[in-house]
Amino acid sequence: MQILWLRNDLRLHDHPGFYLARAKNEPLSIIYIMPKEWLDIDAQGMTRLGAAKARFLRSSLIDLHRTLDEHTFDLTILFGDPVELLQKIYLEQAFTLITASAQAPEEAGWLARIAELGIQIECYEPYTLFSPAQMTDFLSHWPTTFSQFRRTIEKHPQQFKVAEDIKALPLKLRDTVLPIWAPAQWPEEHSDTGIQLKRNGGERSGKQHLKDYLWENKSIQHYKATRNALIGDYFSSQLSPYLAWGCLSPRHIWHQILQYEAAYQADEHSQWLKLELLWREYFHWSMRHHGDRLFQKNGLRTDTVTPKKIPEHIVQKHWQAWCAASTGIPMIDAGLVELRTTGFVSNRLRQNMASYFIHQLQLDWRWGARWFEQHLIDFDVASNWGNWAYLAGVGHDARPQRQFNINKQLQEYDPELQHIQHWLPELSQQSLDDILNHQTKTKLIPYYPSPVVATRSISITPQT
Ligand SMILES: Cc1cc2nc3c(=O)[nH]c(=O)nc-3n(C[C@H](O)[C@H](O)[C@H](O)COP(=O)(O)OP(=O)(O)OC[C@H]3O[C@@H](n4cnc5c(N)ncnc54)[C@H](O)[C@@H]3O)c2cc1C
Repeated sequence: MQILWLRNDLRLHDHPGFYLARAKNEPLSIIYIMPKEWLDIDAQGMTRLGAAKARFLRSSLIDLHRTLDEHTFDLTILFGDPVELLQKIYLEQAFTLITASAQAPEEAGWLARIAELGIQIECYEPYTLFSPAQMTDFLSHWPTTFSQFRRTIEKHPQQFKVAEDIKALPLKLRDTVLPIWAPAQWPEEHSDTGIQLKRNGGERSGKQHLKDYLWENKSIQHYKATRNALIGDYFSSQLSPYLAWGCLSPRHIWHQILQYEAAYQADEHSQWLKLELLWREYFHWSMRHHGDRLFQKNGLRTDTVTPKKIPEHIVQKHWQAWCAASTGIPMIDAGLVELRTTGFVSNRLRQNMASYFIHQLQLDWRWGARWFEQHLIDFDVASNWGNWAYLAGVGHDARPQRQFNINKQLQEYDPELQHIQHWLPELSQQSLDDILNHQTKTKLIPYYPSPVVATRSISITPQT
C-alpha cells in the first residue's frame, strides 16, 4: 500500500506526487492531516488557524475532494499529530509514504521522525519554480541579497529554465481505505459570519482566477503601475492564497505568463510579475538553507543585538491595541480590520503594518509574524517570516532602520481615503488632513482612539 500525504500541494495539475504513486502501481490512499497544534493557543493568545484562513483551507479541501471523487478516489482528512497518526496506520498496515519535501524546519522534523519509525518515504518538489539540482550552487553559497540571486538567474537562463508543468494523469490505481479515523476539527470561529473571503480556495477557483486575471481582464497589463495600491479587485494578481496552499503550481503560473507574453509581448508589467515570483523563490530556498535561524529573534544576524528594554505594561498595552485593531493610527487599524475579516491585505499595507509594529510599537517582530500567520489566507512560512525578518533588520540585507514613513505612505497610497473609509466607516466624514493630524497627534479626532504611538517622528522611506 502507498499513502500520498498532501500538505501545501492541494491540486492535481503539475503534481509529481501522483506520478510517483502511479509508477508504484500499488493501492493508494490520499490523505491531508490538519496538525492538532494549529489550534493550540500560545502565550500571546494566538492560534495558527484563524477564521478566514480556516475557511480558505476548508474550501480548498472540499474542492480537492470533489475532484478526486471524479477519479473515484477519496480524500481522507485527519486531525492530530502527523507522526503519531502515520505511526498508528503503519502498525496496522505497512505502507510507503509519498509526500512533498520539507519546506520549513517543522516539516523536516516530522519527516525525520517518520523515517526513524522505519517508514519508507519518497519525496517530491511541488512548491518552487526551480529544482534542488538547479539550486545546488546557491545552497552552498547563499546570496545575501535578492539582487545577487536575481542577477545570477538572469545571467544563466539555460541553467535556470523553469521546467514545464507536468500534465495531470488518469490515476488508474485502486483506492484503499485507511485503518484509522481521526476527523478534522475546525476552529470555533469558523462559523463567524463576519468573515468575507473574496474568493474560495481550491484548484478550480485558482485556475478560474488565473484565467480571469491574465486572459479575460488582462490585468497584468497594468501590474507594475498598480501593484502598490491598497484596495481593488485586480491591482495585483492576488494569486498568493492559491500558491500558498498549492492549489496552483508556481511553474504553471510562470508558463501561463510566458504564454501571455508570447501572445501579447513581454513588457515591464509581465517582467515585474515574474520578478515577484522570484522573490517568493528566494525566500523559499533561503528558508531551506537557513532553517531554524529565521525564527530566532536575531534572525540571520551574527552580531549581538542588544534589545531595547520596554516595560512589560507598555508591551501589553501596545500588543492589546494591535490585536484589537485599535492602535489609533487609522491606516494601520484599517489594515488590521481588513486582515482579520478577509485574511488578505495588500503588500504595501503589510509593509507599513509590520514597520509600525516593529519600529513604533517596538514589539518582538516574531509576535507580528505569528499574528499574520494566524490570519493570512496566503500564509506561506518562508515568505511571511522572510519578509518580517527583512523589515525587522534581521533578515537578508540586514539594515537596522528599515522604517516606513506612514504619513507619507498614506498621502501617496490612500490620498482619497478609499481604503481607510471602507474598513473604518466611522471615519467617512474625515479628510486626509484630519487623519494626518490625528496620526501625528497634532489634532485628535474626538471619537477615534488616540494613537498609542504617534507617527510624527518617522522620516525615512525605504525603497522596496
Ligand atoms: C510583513 C509581510 C508578510 C508577508 N507574508 C506573506 C505570506 O505569508 N505569504 C505570501 O505569499 N506573501 C507574503 N508577503 C509578500 C506579499 O505581501 C504577498 O505575496 C502579496 O501581497 C500577495 O498578493 P499578490 O498575490 O496579489 O501579489 P503580486 O504582487 O501579484 O505578486 C505575485 C506573487 O509574487 C509573490 N510575491 C510578491 N511579493 C512578494 C514578497 N515580498 N515576498 C515573497 N513573495 C512575493 C507572491 O507569491 C505573489 O502571489 C508578505 C509581505 C510582508 C511585507
